[in-house]
Amino acid sequence: MSRFWSPMVSALTPYVPGEQPQTLDVVKLNTNENPFGPSKRALEAMRSAASDSLRLYPDPNARQIREAAAHAWNLLPEQVFVGNGSDEVLAHAFFAFFQHDLPILLPDITYSFYPVYCKLYGIAWRTIPLDNHLSIPVEDFTGPNGGIVLANPNAPTGRALSLEQIECLLQKNSDSVVMIDEAYVDFGADSATALIARFPNLLIIRTLSKSYALAGLRVGFALGNAALIEGLERVKNSFNSYPLDRLAIAGATAALKDQHWFEENRSRVIALREELSTGLMQRRFEVLPSAANFVFARHPEIEAAQMASGLRERGVLVRHFNANRIDQFLRISVGTEKQQARFFAMLDKELERIDKKTA
Ligand SMILES: *Cc1c(COP(=O)(O)O)cnc(C)c1O
Repeated sequence: MSRFWSPMVSALTPYVPGEQPQTLDVVKLNTNENPFGPSKRALEAMRSAASDSLRLYPDPNARQIREAAAHAWNLLPEQVFVGNGSDEVLAHAFFAFFQHDLPILLPDITYSFYPVYCKLYGIAWRTIPLDNHLSIPVEDFTGPNGGIVLANPNAPTGRALSLEQIECLLQKNSDSVVMIDEAYVDFGADSATALIARFPNLLIIRTLSKSYALAGLRVGFALGNAALIEGLERVKNSFNSYPLDRLAIAGATAALKDQHWFEENRSRVIALREELSTGLMQRRFEVLPSAANFVFARHPEIEAAQMASGLRERGVLVRHFNANRIDQFLRISVGTEKQQARFFAMLDKELERIDKKTA
């Protein structure tokens, strides 16, 4: 607290990201980063871009990335908006499309940044509870609203909605913007990009942070009707003309063009996710079916918070959310073969220790 803060700043509740340890010797399965490094072509493009040209401002419209993204996702460049990570894109989209009189609708359990933006902009929201299987009940997103936002696959559950369900949601809510955050879509769900041509109220949010292994580069997208994209441009150009630097433009463009790396990485991550799920089930965990690069799992007897802190002491980070309905779950990101072996070794020690204590 400081007397120099405006009343608004005092009232903010900032988002708390997962722990980023300063040492590299931990097994980091807590923030859904890709366990493998990015495309070599992307790294090479960034090395070449690290030159005297850095004295010049970057292209404010990041045209190269927009063209590469449009090509990769079968859209037109005017249907693509780029920002400094999808978190920034989400912030601009909330500002541009959700500041109406009616509250927006979002699932009670989802990406916890959404209510943070609502508070930042003074947007009212109403939460729709997940069903007993922790799936999003699309049929409950009805009635007058100022907009809808959800993640598909959802975070932190990993559960996905079908394209038919998304289409139904769009049909029933044609008077507000429906925002689908597809941060994890490449790991096992269907993208709603194909619906953009038919639904002028659909905005899709994507990122290079997960399925392109570029969380450190900060590149995110909004995909939608050209009029929605123009609205986002207006907000962006009233905030920061150059959200993407020259290195990010070069790296992101090359990454989007390297579809060979992308396909190979994604199959590898999906195969490792299945190994992770199987290993957890063998240890009696209940594991939700995941379409993402993480799994959401619960042990029938052991306190999740206790298990997370026990693993942490053994150098393994997983994510625990101290929130209603999910406080007995752990969210575990897919790791490399080696990281997952280490995770299971430490988990077994932890299970053994707790077993002895209760015996
Ligand atoms: C990781 C994540 C983001 C943020 O991605 P950045 O592009 O790195 O800002 C957005 N939404 C969801 C659901 C995420 O899990």
